[in-house]
Amino acid sequence: MAVTKKFSAETIRKAYQAGLRDFGENYVQEFEKKRPELNELADATCHLIGHLQSNKAGTALDLFQVIQTIDSSKLLKRLDSMAQERGLSPEGLIEVKLSDEENKTGTAASDLPALIEAAGTCRAVRVTGLMTVPPWSEDAEQSRPYFRKLAELGRQFGLPKLSMGMSDDFEVAIEEGAHFVRVGTALFGPRTKDTNPPAH
Ligand SMILES: *Cc1c(COP(=O)(O)O)cnc(C)c1O
Repeated sequence: MAVTKKFSAETIRKAYQAGLRDFGENYVQEFEKKRPELNELADATCHLIGHLQSNKAGTALDLFQVIQTIDSSKLLKRLDSMAQERGLSPEGLIEVKLSDEENKTGTAASDLPALIEAAGTCRAVRVTGLMTVPPWSEDAEQSRPYFRKLAELGRQFGLPKLSMGMSDDFEVAIEEGAHFVRVGTALFGPRTKDTNPPAH
């Protein structure tokens, strides 16, 4: 999946023309601004990969077909009732926090059973997988145990779609069974403060 946060709608269109169909964005508001310029990309799938505050759940459902960052039963239930109201059936991934970093979002692995149970009662949201972001490291091998753990949890709970791996460690993630790798920098170059793509 192409991660296009901080890149312009123009960059997304070019990536689409090059054949990419899955796009990941981190911020609801940022994508809300770009989305009107992307109306012709009808068959693209847009994934929310950044933290979702429950007061933005409705807007997120209007913009994204896949919400990868469900991290509480409360958020899941809210998304489900709003999706029902809107006649939508979005796909959902549960974000799992496998490290003990304080500044990371995601549900603890020990809270997964409760979330899976809530997923079973959903009528609109289809929970199909798990997502994780391991601690950043220069050495991709450091990510492997986190990817392996996510794959283990996916098997345990019958959630086969694993979203794991970024520019620096996607090869390792694929070896460990990733369904989605989320790649930004390796496709588009470094993210600058403005939304213009770097000149190559
Ligand atoms: C930004 C981001 C990515 C992409 O990171 P790159 O290193 O640019 O490939 C992937 N996943 C998440 C959750 C991100 O925030």
